[in-house]
Amino acid sequence: MEIKVLTLFPEMFKGPLDVSIIKNAQEKGLLTIEYINIRDFSNSKHKKVDDYPYGGGAGMVMTPQPIFDCYEKTLEKFKDSIKPRTIYCTPKGKVFNQQIALELSKEKHLVFICGHYEGVDQRVIDELVTDEISIGDYVLTGGELPVAVIIDAISRLIPGVLGQDESYQEESFYSGLLEYPHYTRPENFRGLTVPSVLLSGNHKEIANWRNQKAMEVTNKRRPDLIARMKNKKRDENNILL
Ligand code: SAM
Repeated sequence: MEIKVLTLFPEMFKGPLDVSIIKNAQEKGLLTIEYINIRDFSNSKHKKVDDYPYGGGAGMVMTPQPIFDCYEKTLEKFKDSIKPRTIYCTPKGKVFNQQIALELSKEKHLVFICGHYEGVDQRVIDELVTDEISIGDYVLTGGELPVAVIIDAISRLIPGVLGQDESYQEESFYSGLLEYPHYTRPENFRGLTVPSVLLSGNHKEIANWRNQKAMEVTNKRRPDLIARMKNKKRDENNILL
């Protein structure tokens, strides 16, 4: 997958996506991420990228010219001439979840436009953006952290990114439930012992125990997920819609 991130603050991405699994994915060539500074495309003498909102009000709005020019130049970098899914993170968007992550992980190209200040001029959204996504009901200072979160979530779903012994099919949300608890060595830590069923070697009993624990935690913390599961509508990947 080829990802382009249009941002005023490329330095915000240094670190979170350059370690561990996402770093390995880039090194294996399964994923490329390029950060493009919108400010470099500003036509103004002082590389201005924001202005006061028409109609008044607090804060500044990112102007359309640098974003349009940056976007058009970015599209030229893709070898295929198709218009890629173009995501703008905003608290007004559809709330991100594992289903959206899986859907986006199947794309060959993605473009992310990061908003800052009060956000971008509406004409950017109307003309360039295909998907508006929120990462939750709270307001951050910019779109950079939401974009990093979304890239992390979708990258690990690209075939080959997770190792053979790691599987997203066993994780929270895939089955529709939150995940069961995990234990590792030692068997006894400060008198706290591992549930004996996990040491039994009986795969059927272990599966039953995990299923029961998944039901318990989901019932307690996210009863809405149980209600959704009862509809039993799933997509071709067995993910609950
Ligand atoms: N004026 C906007 C509003 O009330 O909806 C909030 C602007 S916020 C201070 C600046 C930028 O951060 C937004 O344009 C968006 O790109 C990003 N952002 C903030 N919170 C977000 C969230 N929960 N999900 C996704 N993006 C968010």
